[in-house]
Amino acid sequence: MTQPVPDPSSAPSFDSSVPPPHVPQSGDGWVQCACGNRHWGLFGAAGLFLVRRDGDGRWAEVVMQHRALWSHQGGMWGIPGGALNAHESAREGAVREAVEEAGVLPDAVRVLGSHALTHADWSYVTVVAECTDPLAAVSATDAESLEVRWLPLDLLRMAVEQASASVSWGGVQVELLAPFFGALPALLRILDDSL
Ligand SMILES: [Zn+2]
Repeated sequence: MTQPVPDPSSAPSFDSSVPPPHVPQSGDGWVQCACGNRHWGLFGAAGLFLVRRDGDGRWAEVVMQHRALWSHQGGMWGIPGGALNAHESAREGAVREAVEEAGVLPDAVRVLGSHALTHADWSYVTVVAECTDPLAAVSATDAESLEVRWLPLDLLRMAVEQASASVSWGGVQVELLAPFFGALPALLRILDDSL
C-alpha cells in the first residue's frame, strides 16, 4: 500500500510500531465477496514472489516481508504486495508494491510467471519473478513491515513438505500467511519449471 515519500534528509523516515499516515489510492477499500469474506483491494490485489539464484544457478532465496504488528495479519510472514490501483495490471501493481515496501529496483525484476487466486468478486495475483542482480539488497522501506529480507527457499519447501505454515528458522518461528502458504506449491512449480 502506498505511503507518502519521506524526506530523505530526515531520518528515521518511519516507525513500524504505528500505522503510517495514508495517501488514498484508487484501489483502497474492502470487497464483500460471495465467498463470505471481505478482501482488501477494490480492483483486486497482487504480490511479488521475487527469487534469486545461488552461484550454481539454482533458485536459492526469496524476498519475504514480516508484517508490521499494527497491520492486518500483523506478525505473519508473506511477500510484498497490496491493492491494485485502477487500470493497473497485476504485474505493474506487484512491482510497485515491492518497490514501495522492500526497496526492490524495478530494472532488476524479470517476470517468470504468475499464479492467480480467483474468488467470485476478487482476485489475488502472485507474480513470480527473478531478481537479476544477485547482490541486490532489500529492506523495509515503509511502515508496513517489521522486516523485509531474503530468506532461503528451502524454508518454504520445508513448509510445503511438512504441510505446516509454521516453520522454524535460525531459532525464529516463521508463521506464513494462509493464502500465501496455500499458493506455495504452485509458486514453487513455476520456479522449478523455469530453470
Ligand atoms: Zn472471496
